[in-house]
Amino acid sequence: MNRIENNIFDSKEFEQAYHTELPLGVLLTDNETEFRLWSPTASEVTLNLYADGHTSSLIVRCSMKPLTHGIWAFTIAEPLHGVYYDYSVTVDNVCRTTPDPYARAAGVNGTRSMVVNLRKTNPNGWELDKAPARPAENIIYEVHVKDFSNAVSSGVPANLRGKYLAFTQEHTTLNGESKTCLSYLKDLGVTHVQLMPVYDYGSVDEAGADTQYNWGYDPINYNVPEGSYSCDPYHGEVRIKELKSAIAALHRNGFRVIMDVVYNHTYSLDCALFKSAPWYFYRQNRDKSPSNGSACGNDVASERSMCARYIVDSVLYWAEEYHMDGFRFDLMGLLDVDLMNRIQQQLDTRFGEGEKLVFGEPWSATATAARKGTLLCQKENLKRLNPRIGAFCDATRDAVKGDLMDAHNKGAVNGGGLSATTLRSMLTGWAGNRDKFPVQGCSQSICYISAHDDWTLWDKLVYTMDAQTLNFKDCPERLLRANRLAVALYFCCQGHLFLLAGEEFARTKNGMKNSYSYSPAVNQMDWERCAQNSALVEYYRGFIALRKQLIGLCDKSELASYRIRTVQEIKPDCLTALVDNTVPPFEQANYSNRWSKLFLVFNLSQASTSVLLPSGNWELLADGANSFLWREPKLYCGSVTAAPVSALIFGKKEK
Ligand code: CA
Repeated sequence: MNRIENNIFDSKEFEQAYHTELPLGVLLTDNETEFRLWSPTASEVTLNLYADGHTSSLIVRCSMKPLTHGIWAFTIAEPLHGVYYDYSVTVDNVCRTTPDPYARAAGVNGTRSMVVNLRKTNPNGWELDKAPARPAENIIYEVHVKDFSNAVSSGVPANLRGKYLAFTQEHTTLNGESKTCLSYLKDLGVTHVQLMPVYDYGSVDEAGADTQYNWGYDPINYNVPEGSYSCDPYHGEVRIKELKSAIAALHRNGFRVIMDVVYNHTYSLDCALFKSAPWYFYRQNRDKSPSNGSACGNDVASERSMCARYIVDSVLYWAEEYHMDGFRFDLMGLLDVDLMNRIQQQLDTRFGEGEKLVFGEPWSATATAARKGTLLCQKENLKRLNPRIGAFCDATRDAVKGDLMDAHNKGAVNGGGLSATTLRSMLTGWAGNRDKFPVQGCSQSICYISAHDDWTLWDKLVYTMDAQTLNFKDCPERLLRANRLAVALYFCCQGHLFLLAGEEFARTKNGMKNSYSYSPAVNQMDWERCAQNSALVEYYRGFIALRKQLIGLCDKSELASYRIRTVQEIKPDCLTALVDNTVPPFEQANYSNRWSKLFLVFNLSQASTSVLLPSGNWELLADGANSFLWREPKLYCGSVTAAPVSALIFGKKEK
């Protein structure tokens, strides 16, 4: 084929000629290995086989034959498990060597793909691995593999620190006393562990020192685990087995596992998606430069049919092969609505409705050059998504602690105030909102106040409440109080709950923001700080346990928002809300019907405030200091006092 004009990729003719649903990648049987690469504009494709993933160990070159619909194929009459390969693809007289975009295993740094018999990568008992039952609420804990266990204080053996296998260590402690890592998480009660990128990314040299660090939002092999978290990045099967072992351990210990996926851009154009089919997988500006709505140098063209197929295939692969229970889409606002709906529908069909969680960031860095007419998953289009596809709710985040673009901007807990109208929106997960966060219902709301991006919650509190000294290390009661009020506020919002690992122990990055490439020392979880702040951890623990018992807040149905009744500002900076917490008959088995109503008090002011309870007797379930009061609740009626900067959560028993 002659020089390809880029817009041809968007034509119906191109799609008809080259769209295929035939299997791609390596088709391995007990007798043969078939290699298939989709490369519609290539004039020549050569398969290169190697004995390893990184030296000049060429075994043979094989000239591939066009099969159909842009697929090039070559079959070898033996099973080649453990053999490494790449392709030399010639397009417009330029020959590029590339790994396989459909590679499922790779050598060090992912530059060569590896043929893998996936059965050989299963840890013991993998066939029986199963996610725990769906919890009453989804409480998602976002953690980076290296952050989790890199510190000596993690108690993880030195050779496993910062690695996948740290998640398999079930009884770690700090100095034999405080629990750390997995055993700590079990006590905390979160239901989902969200792993920051664990696909193969490019910014860390897998052959280099362990002191390197990156969050990993720079994909190079979408269907291969990252090698730097493996104990042996040189042998492609090892990282697969280790990641599966981590997932199995998380499942066994009661957690579902969510994978952070970054299909919106690649590390650079020096990658398989580009080199196997130049420009097809990427959006371009009018001047042919790569579109850059991701602010990472390129945008993937999800609206093109073979690109959409690639992304769907990849998600299903991780769900099936690695038993992933959910997917968090980075910059989902760059992906199109049709694709996301297809992903949810395919996951529902294969695994059961709602079994796999799907959510993402409903924004992008800047505008993207998508094909005309493409509906992107930006906030304004959330209404067009499957109502179970969630989105990060920046509106609640900013209302609680202040705008994240401005360090000193304040929210409800640090002196910025909160209107009854905003509180109502927050409590309903912004259901039916047309402005700030236009979701269909709380089933689409991912309610959170900290994530890996931007300042940690603690650092934001220091910037807004302790601006004179900027002492991030100490934890004065004044700030802890604001932190606890923040917990009460977002744990009373309908929607799914989400927190950055360590938020519950006042995690600090010493005021640093977007620490994606900073040292492990800045980023890693400090288990000593965790032990020091055990009282704050306990406060989170109580709210996590309480939330799971409150159907009035866990309800994800279309009618959930009607449960949020009167929301009032009863005095300056003191707000209350009444919540219908009755259990519908079909949910009786899942909720012991302890309280039919909830009464929430949020006192944002620096003064104690007296509040008149609605009629009847109310049990105090949590206050500003203790979130476990629901275990042995005391009865109250009439007037009660809310301490400065604190919440009161009351429940009323069914008659
Ligand atoms: Ca890598």
